[in-house]
Order: sequence, then structure tokens, then C-alpha cells
Amino acid sequence: MPLSRATSPASHPLPERCDFTVFGGTGDLALRKLLPALYQCDLEGRLPDDTRVVAVSRASYDDEGYRSLARAALAEHGPGDEQDPAAVERLLGRLHHVTLDVTDEHDWHHLYGVLKDREEFASTVRVFYLAVAPRLYETICDHLGRGGLAAEPARVVLEKPIGHDLASARQVNDVVGGVFDESQIFRIDHYLGKESVQNLLVTRFANTFLEPLWNSQWVDHVQITVSETLGVGDRGAYYDQAGALRDMVQNHLLQLLCLVAMEPPIEVGREDVRDEKLKVLQALAPMTPEDVDRDIVRGRYRAGHVEGESVPSYADEVGADESLTETFVALRTEVQNWRWAGVPFYLRTGKRMDQRLSEIAIVFKEPPTDVFPHREGLTEPNKLTIRVSPDEGMKLHLTAKEPGPGGYRMRPVSLDLSYATAFAKRSPDAYERLLMDVIRGIPTLFMRRDEVEAAWAWCEPILRHWESTGLPPKMYPAGSQGPSAAFTLIERDGRSWQEYLPE
Ligand code: NAD
Repeated sequence: MPLSRATSPASHPLPERCDFTVFGGTGDLALRKLLPALYQCDLEGRLPDDTRVVAVSRASYDDEGYRSLARAALAEHGPGDEQDPAAVERLLGRLHHVTLDVTDEHDWHHLYGVLKDREEFASTVRVFYLAVAPRLYETICDHLGRGGLAAEPARVVLEKPIGHDLASARQVNDVVGGVFDESQIFRIDHYLGKESVQNLLVTRFANTFLEPLWNSQWVDHVQITVSETLGVGDRGAYYDQAGALRDMVQNHLLQLLCLVAMEPPIEVGREDVRDEKLKVLQALAPMTPEDVDRDIVRGRYRAGHVEGESVPSYADEVGADESLTETFVALRTEVQNWRWAGVPFYLRTGKRMDQRLSEIAIVFKEPPTDVFPHREGLTEPNKLTIRVSPDEGMKLHLTAKEPGPGGYRMRPVSLDLSYATAFAKRSPDAYERLLMDVIRGIPTLFMRRDEVEAAWAWCEPILRHWESTGLPPKMYPAGSQGPSAAFTLIERDGRSWQEYLPE
């Protein structure tokens, strides 16, 4: 029997009381993601009985007004017709709205009153979810500290972006860390809340058959693709200051890379996973200007057709003709440690691509010698693909003999695990898992300060080099798989991007 330890939820019991405060309670994130996730947690009886949700915004709602807004948001973004009316009413009954411009000194007494004038204040888990622009973090944290609300068991949740480079990320971390201890800070990367991403940990560490193969001796290369069909939409002002490297690679793609490449943790508990992810980030090959020019492709979409509809160029969508912002990045890197030395990791992400898809492919080496000299048919290297979204699942690609007499006619086949079919269960939204982990105080699926800063430290030379050269990104038509240079990047190594054919 393997050594067993206490599982994380058991060592982090559900608190009896929780005040879940959302700064930015009328914003897109709160209405589209947080309220539906809280509804689902409440429906399934996972919230502490004594939970209040306090929405803070500048809008002048009273509690009833905010409940109407929340009801409409749940109807639009929740489970639709399958909504349970009693559960909706229960959640609405938990909601309160506090009108507060956080930059106004005099407004804060109302929020202090709501949170402090409650029974058992000292033992109430207070979650402060900062669903507002990062420039407001300092003011908010400062007031929470001064108001006596930041002491344990308080927790603060930060959304991306955490800074736009290393220095600004440090500044955000300093500001929040000046009031909250690191153990109270939960930095969300919602990719880590996805079922299939957590299943990557389970696949690797609750099974034995992959581990002996999971290294440079047997793995030829790794590909991580996150492609979106959407453009920048109404996030243009933010996005034009960020671009794909900051918006996607620095956080989501590097986090996925860490989970693929990390060493086994001692236990999926408090700090072990984060310790191991940090070591991967620290082992990423540093990028010199020559490396950036050779191993990274930046792209930007021009007008085209996505899913049968004609869409404008990035410049037209954002109204930014002069900007050099990229909407696509493809890159090659290596994890310079004993396990992975020499194995390329190819990452790519883009907007307005031909399909919406997040997938990791571990491509294995060819057999060392061919014992079928007279083979026929087609063979491909073994490959494990992990589909993060949509249609979460896993496929192990093998070569098999086609039935028939005489000779060896071969064909690639796959062992297929579709979550939807295998478990016939609703796959929870990432936020459901993450919000419950915040309430319970389980930090594993959140980014620690040193991880965020290590990821920025790796991205920094890339950003600086792009700034100094001032070269525009390579154009690609909307609805394609990115600029042709992205294909050259991988093909010059004698490899090719995974083909994503419709199932
Ligand atoms: P939003 O513009 O829709 O909402 C902003 C909210 O902040 C509103 O409720 C507004 O009333 C409130 N607000 C603004 N200034 C305030 C002030 N001075 N005092 C009190 N409240 C104030 O923004 P959003 O899309 O909900 O995003 C919020 C944050 O979360 C941003 O930093 C964004 O980058 C981040 N984020 C959003 C998403 C998403 O899906 N929307 C995803 C990841 C990260």
C-alpha cells in the first residue's frame, strides 16, 4: 500500500461562517463568472451555511436592486433552464450591496459596519475578491488593513494581470503583501481550476506507467496550444497595452508547462506543488536577443473569416493602427534540468484562430529500431494529448496492426478518454473549484508570489527585446493557424504542429 497522508480538503475543513466580499460586484467578472460559480456551490451545499456575499461597487444599488441585477446575471450566465428556483432565492438572500468608491476616504465606514457588526466577527472567514482594476489594489488593501479587516482568517484574491512586467508585478505584490501575509493571498489563474488541468496531476502522479517515460530519454517534444476564435472584443484598451505574451504566455501557458514538466511533489498539499512549479520556471532557458529573434514568432490578425463570419482586423477592432501589440505568439523553449535537457517545448497561443482549443501534446520518440522492415501503411510517433477545452479528455495515440492476412499493415489508433462519456457528470467551471479552495484556505491551485515573479523574469528579456527592435508582428488572416513563420519555427526542427481535425 502506498503511504497515505491526510487529503487537503480534510485538513482544510469548511469554515462555519464566511463573508465573501467582491470589489467590483457589478463588473463583468462578478456577474458572468463569480455569481454563477457561487450559485452552483450553494446549490450543491458546499458553501458554509452562514455565508454572506457582499458586492461592492460605485453603483447606487440597495440590496434589493443588486439582487435584481444578480437574478438577471444568473439567468443569462448560469445554468439557464436548469436553474433551481429555490437555490437562486437562497443565493439572492445572501447578497448585499455596498455603494463605495474605494478612492473616497469617507465612503468606507459603511463597508466596515457591514463586515464588523456581525456575530462571531473574529472567526468569520473574510474573503476579499479584488475584481477591479489593479491600480485600485493599493487603496483597497490599505483600507482593509486600517479598518482591522485584514487579520486572519481574512483572504484576498487577485486576478490577472499581476503587473505588466517584473517591476510592476513586484510592486503589486509589495502593496498587497504589505497588508496581507503571503499565506492569505490567492492569485487566480483560472486554468489551474479546470478539471482537465487538475487531472494532469492525477494522470501523472496517481498512475505509475507514465513516469518512467516522462523524460528526455523517451519524450521527443511537448506542444502546448491555447487558441481562441474570439478577438479582443471590448477589452481592447487593456489588451493593446498587454498583448499575447503578457496576457496568455506569462500565466496560463507557463503554468501548463510547469504542470507537465514538474517533478513529483511530496504531497499535493500546501506548498509542494508550488515549490516544484517554481523550479521549472527557474530552469527555463533564458532568452537572449538572438534566441528571441530565432525562437519566438509574434503575430497579429488581419481581417478574415472565423467560423464562417467575416471579422475585422485587430487594428480596426481596437482602433490602433500604430500599435505593435501581438495577438499571437509561438515559441520554442527548453527546461534545462536533468529530466528535460534537450527536449523542446513548443508553445503557441493566438486570437482569431481557426478554432477554440486548449491542448497539451506529449510526443514520444520513435522506437529505437524498426523490427518491421516490410511494413505498410502509416505510423506516427506515440503521443499523449490532453484536451483542456473544449471536450475535456485525453487520448493516447498508438500504432496498431490493421486486421488482415499476410504482412504488417499499420495504422495510428487512439485510446480515448472523454470526460463527458467516462464520468457522465457535469464538469464544474474552474471558478467553482477555486472559490471553494479560497474559502477553505487551500493554496495549491493558486500562484505564489515567487512563481509569478519567476514567470515575469523569464518574459522580461523578450518584452525588452521587442520594445528595443520596434518591429511589427507578422500578420496572419483571422481564422487561420497563425503566421507562416510559426510553422517554420517548428518545421526547421523536423517536427510539425499537431493537426486538430474535427472529431
Ligand atoms: P469591469 O470594468 O466590468 O468591472 C469593474 C468593476 O469595478 C465594476 O463593478 C465597477 O463598479 C468597479 N469599480 C471601478 N472603479 C471603482 C471604484 N473606484 N470603487 C469601487 N468600485 C469600482 O471589469 P471586469 O471585467 O469585471 O474585470 C475586473 C478585473 O478582473 C480587471 O482587473 C480584469 O483585468 C480582471 N479580470 C477579468 C476577467 C473577466 O472575465 N472579466 C478575467 C480575468 C481577469
